Order: sequence, then C-alpha cells, then structure tokens
Amino acid sequence: MNIHEYQGKELLRKYGVMVPNGRVAFSADEAVEAAKQLGTDVTVVKAQIHAGGRGKAGGVKVAKNIEEVRTYAEEILGKTLITHQTGPEGKEVKRLLIEEGCDIKKEYYIGLVLDRATSRIVLMASEEGGTEIEEVAEKTPEKIFKETIDPAIGLQSYQARRIAFNINIPRELINKAAAFMLGLYKVFIEKDCSIAEINPLVVTGDGNVMALDAKLNFDSNALYRHKDILEYRDLEEEDEKEIEASKYDLSYISLDGNIGCMVNGAGLAMATMDIIKFYGGDPANFLDVGGGATAEKVTEAFKIILSDQNVKGIFVNIFGGIMKCDVIAEGVVEATKQVGLSIPLVVRLEGTNVEIGKKILNESGLNITSAESMADGAKKIVSLVG
Ligand code: ADP
Ligand code: MG
Repeated sequence: MNIHEYQGKELLRKYGVMVPNGRVAFSADEAVEAAKQLGTDVTVVKAQIHAGGRGKAGGVKVAKNIEEVRTYAEEILGKTLITHQTGPEGKEVKRLLIEEGCDIKKEYYIGLVLDRATSRIVLMASEEGGTEIEEVAEKTPEKIFKETIDPAIGLQSYQARRIAFNINIPRELINKAAAFMLGLYKVFIEKDCSIAEINPLVVTGDGNVMALDAKLNFDSNALYRHKDILEYRDLEEEDEKEIEASKYDLSYISLDGNIGCMVNGAGLAMATMDIIKFYGGDPANFLDVGGGATAEKVTEAFKIILSDQNVKGIFVNIFGGIMKCDVIAEGVVEATKQVGLSIPLVVRLEGTNVEIGKKILNESGLNITSAESMADGAKKIVSLVG
C-alpha cells in the first residue's frame, strides 16, 4: 500500500527523523491558512499524489509570499499531473502539502528496499540526489553505495556512517546523517515497509540533515497489524478495479494492454501474459482467481475484466486442479448474463470437470472461441483483437 508524502513525513517525525514543518490542505483557502500558520518567509506548495516526479511536472512550487501560495494552490489543485510514474493518463491533484521552504545545500538519495537476491533489506545511497535513482544506476552506477542489513542485528551505526562517508556527507554531519538512517530503518522494520525512499535527503544551510521527500510503501500482507497505517489509505489514488478485486480477495493488477485475462494460479497467470506478448498482444491485467474460487468470485472477477474500457477481448485460460472447470464456466456465464458480452472471448479449459465446463459454455449461447492449448488460445485472442 502506498501513502502520501505528507503522511510519510508525519510518520517519520514520530520516529525522530527530521522533516520540514508542513500541513496538508484540500483547498486554496486551507493552503493560505496553512502557510500563515507556518509563518515562514518561503513556502513550498506540493501536489500530493501517489507518484513521484512531481517537481518536473509542475507539481512543486516555491512561493515567496501568501499571494503566491494562493496562486500556486489554485493552479495545482484539480490539475492532472503527468509524470514518469503516473502513466499517460496522469493523476488529478486533490491534496497539497504546504511546507516550509528549505535552504538546500546539497541533495542526496537514501533508500531502503528488500533485495530479493539476498533476501535482505539493503540501504542504498547516492550523492546524486534529486534525480531519478534508476537514471543514476544506469549512467553512473559507481555513485550508488549499498549496505546489506543482517536481520538478526539490524542496521548498524558503522554501516550508516560508512554510507554517509561514501556519499560525501560533510564530515561534521556524518553522525546526524547516520542517526537519520537508523531512524528510517526503525520505521521500515516496525511498520513493515516494502520501500522507504528519501529523494532528496538534504543537507541544509544551518547544518541539518532532513528528508525533503518521502515515499513509503507498506506490505499489504502486514496491514492487519498496523491499523494506524491503514488509516492513511487513500482509495481515490488507487485503481477502482483493483479495489473492487480486493473486496473479493482476488489477485488482480490492472495493466495497460487490451486483452483481459482470467487465469487460475499466479504462475499460469504470468505465463499467460508472457504468451500473449509472445504472439504480439498486450495483456490488460494480471488476474489469479485462486484455487478454491466459488462461482460468485469468478463472476465478480469476470465483471471486473468486462468493466475495463480498454479491454477489447478476453482470454480465459484455466487448468483445473483444485479449481474446477465447471465453476469457471458458471461464473463466466453468470457474469455475461448480468453485464453482457460484446467482445471476443477465447476459452481454454483443461483439467477437473473439463467436459461439464465445456458443456455449460456450449449451451450458454455465448459466442465463444474455444482453444486447444495455451498457445492456440493466445494466437486466437491476439488475432481476434487485431
Ligand atoms: P518529486 O520527487 O515528486 O519531484 P520532491 O518532493 O522530491 O518531489 O520535490 C522536488 C524538488 O523540489 C526537490 O528535489 C527539491 O529540490 C524541491 N523541494 C521539495 N520540497 C522542498 C522544500 N520544502 N523546500 C525547498 N525545496 C523543496
Ligand atoms: Mg522526490
């Protein structure tokens, strides 16, 4: 689960990690009020969306007085920001962070991520802050330093100091920077983060080390034990289809293509996406209906796929093991009864109760193209979608 920058900063502050003073605002009036409360000479107006790259897209503005705060707040609120992380459709700004302007001496990058190769959390840092870390990794990988953290003892001070030293934090601020990293690590562990990225971390004119941006992601499987984090959830920032899918406990991820996929098993779902790509198509989603899905769950899953305006054809690829083919067939028929079906549907069924499943589909009167194999099905749906 993703949260907003201002929420991330609120959390960091609770852990003693230094961040600038700031307040959230939902309107231009609230923005002006927040700026007055802050009472700083320079105020920064920052768009709050669940995506980075806001600065370059015009979502971060420095205001020198209250009038400018109002002007920028009015300009940014309601605007659709298109950044490298929002996708081409962009994201509409509904909240602002009104923050004290910071006297930046230098920007750095600090991140904590799970390294799947070592199964450990890695502290990553660079003196190339402010820019996208992917770009630094590609062009100047030698400017990224890493410390792998032993889960039994956690991040050690010497590791934090070594990183601070490597990224050329001024000598007199090494201890402050190390304390910052230890605090960030504490948040990461205690709140079950999957990513904690501070870009930029800054050294200020008055000799402080603080987070100017905060991107925190949380492991959804651990949210049951973090009610406080769950409060931060902003459904308006999430994909409607994914929210709907989560109600039915379906593993669904919306993608950019136009071929809807309904599959059982995560491995088969991945392989189905691959084979669609292989034959020149583009999947519109990842969907694993799971093993023990009921006809009702399958119905909802199929309706979610049908509700996607981008979907121009559907490929149902089922290997019935625990999942029974007739349950899938019932779900497909029920969903199309409820919402109709005007696009091509290719079905490949194999496994438990396959004959009953095929019979249900044949007798449904639906215009279904059946496939003999996965490859056959993928080829057929790609050619039907055109
Ligand atoms: P994003 O990563 O989405 O572009 P950031 O929060 O990193 O957004 O802001 C972009 C840039 O704006 C920062 O690299 C920094 O230079 C500047 N900036 C952000 N917040 C402040 C602030 N409070 N004071 C001064 N400059 C800021
Ligand atoms: Mg940033």
